[in-house]
Amino acid sequence: MPIVPKHRWLMQVYAQDVLSRLGEVKASITSLSGQVLKLDSTKKIVRKLAGSARSTAAWATNVGNEFGQVIMSVLTASEGWGLAKMAEGLVNRYKQANIAPPRVLYTDRDCCKNSHLHKIFGGWPNLCIRLDVWHFMRRIAVGCTTDSHPLYSGFMAQLSRCIFVWDQSDLQRLIEAMRAELEACHLHPSDDDVRKSITKKEMQLHCKRAVRPAAEMEVMLGQLLAAYDGGRGCNSLGVPLINSARMKEIWKAQRRHIPCLQDPPGFQLYTQTGTVTKAGHVLPTYRCARGSTSLENFHLHMNRFIPGALQVGKVQHNGQTATESVKAFLSGSVVNTKEHVVLRE
Ligand SMILES: [Zn+2]
Repeated sequence: MPIVPKHRWLMQVYAQDVLSRLGEVKASITSLSGQVLKLDSTKKIVRKLAGSARSTAAWATNVGNEFGQVIMSVLTASEGWGLAKMAEGLVNRYKQANIAPPRVLYTDRDCCKNSHLHKIFGGWPNLCIRLDVWHFMRRIAVGCTTDSHPLYSGFMAQLSRCIFVWDQSDLQRLIEAMRAELEACHLHPSDDDVRKSITKKEMQLHCKRAVRPAAEMEVMLGQLLAAYDGGRGCNSLGVPLINSARMKEIWKAQRRHIPCLQDPPGFQLYTQTGTVTKAGHVLPTYRCARGSTSLENFHLHMNRFIPGALQVGKVQHNGQTATESVKAFLSGSVVNTKEHVVLRE
């Protein structure tokens, strides 16, 4: 019986093959850009650094674009000013490629005016820096006693409603299509039945939504927190959903970020990707560029594929071949990364 090579041998052959196409890989990664950028950092990946690279970095930071591609990946010792070189590299990339600067940057921190982020991206003076809504909601949720409370999911759904408003014409079109679909099955649905038959996924696919104006959102959020506070937010055993003292502090700190959640003025975050016909009704399908959730998914992906090479996942994620990416990692093209990073197995 022939001897099957061990994984180490296969990995070596794979890496050598990849190294032979280094230039092409570097070019493919560094030629990506976008008009809506997302910035997010994670600590999970750097904890896997072992050997001489251990404890040399505190954060893995990625920048993505509106198409879900990762256009930059760095390891740094700190956030804030620690990202200055990365920002400089991005600004130069756009300048050299003669591409218009991005319009929006979504982040999970440093969103307010005069923050580090505004300073390090000073090369793009018209860039709107916005706080990712999901991160804002997570910050508010910290004021809840537990996420297993029976009122928790209802509270979070209402929190989302206080922040977003659906486009009424899209929503009406979807309701009519769903009604027609149910009637085609010989049902006689009430308005409530039609609404209940629409899934969250269908809403997101067929309806645009906008962030509410700051003043309106602030009032609605204040009312929501008051409605769930104290005895009104208790379960049958008298356990409150909200820790009043903690929530008061959180609200005091977070309400100043409401302007940072606003959609960039005059910029269309939705792109129509096609149409779907439902019971004779033509519904548009949209892709939304808002927020940094795509990077959260990438971090999960990156965490799973390590041990491996950082750039393998990056190029795989961008829809290219994994082989091409190893050499980028081996060449040290990951900005600020130690040349020979050993990853714990
Ligand atoms: Zn802010």
